[in-house]
Amino acid sequence: MLDENCVFCKIIRGEIPSAKVYEDDVMYVFKDIEPKAKVHLLAVPKDHYKLLSEADGQRLKTLAYMLEKIPAVAKANGCDNGYRLIVNQGDDAGQTVFHLHIHILGGEALPL
Ligand code: 5GP
Ligand code: ZN
Repeated sequence: MLDENCVFCKIIRGEIPSAKVYEDDVMYVFKDIEPKAKVHLLAVPKDHYKLLSEADGQRLKTLAYMLEKIPAVAKANGCDNGYRLIVNQGDDAGQTVFHLHIHILGGEALPL
């Protein structure tokens, strides 16, 4: 289910351009527009929901699938020496786009 007004749903639909690095039936991975590391990708489920805390049932299965796929996607995009996954949950974490997404950061040694 996609949301009419969501920026990531628009990216998934191709209404907003993005630098896509991977796509399949359930997930879409693209470059962050304001990279916080040499490599900064965003992995999003095609199913629109706002928060990690809303993941249950099929959403958790999709998240597990994404976590299985991410290592190969990360490696193919310059993160062969490690990477960091981040999910910002809500306002205090600085979440700005309310479509669940996993940040993939790497391509260099990251500060702690
Ligand atoms: P959040 O703070 O919600 O965890 O992360 C949202 C991320 O989405 C930010 O790193 C921001 O740079 C990225 N972002 C926001 N709008 C766009 C966009 O239109 N295109 C791309 N590629 N990234 C975006
Ligand atoms: Zn969305």
